[in-house]
Amino acid sequence: MKRTMTCIACPRGCLLNISETDGNITVTENQCSRGVDYALQELKESLRMLTTTVRTSGTDYPRLAVRLSRDVPLRLFPDYMKVISRIIHKGSCIPGDILAENLLDSGIDLISTGAVNSEVAKSNDVDSEKKV
Ligand code: SF4
Repeated sequence: MKRTMTCIACPRGCLLNISETDGNITVTENQCSRGVDYALQELKESLRMLTTTVRTSGTDYPRLAVRLSRDVPLRLFPDYMKVISRIIHKGSCIPGDILAENLLDSGIDLISTGAVNSEVAKSNDVDSEKKV
């Protein structure tokens, strides 16, 4: 078996050559050892960091940027997205805040990567009430 694969572990994007002979997998054209780890993991199962947004309520922005606390199998993205799409974040938060714990009983948390300020939203509400 011979194939090529672009390593996405860093922006350099090395084009890896992967070959398998008698069960031994060889990775070449990698500029560092992370390329080997990436290729071996990809052959086993693709893992990716899921980043998305959740709805907010009573804050200064309608949606908040979020990510999972670690990489998850790509095939499970729809399951995680089903859970995340039901979450509505209320109140202020800053990047790094845990918004939901142990999604799908995986031990993986949902982390905020953005900031929202519920106080700004309250003052905006007051302003809009004054204008009416
Ligand atoms: S092999 Fe190393 S240098 Fe090349 S893209 Fe992967 S992480 Fe970056």
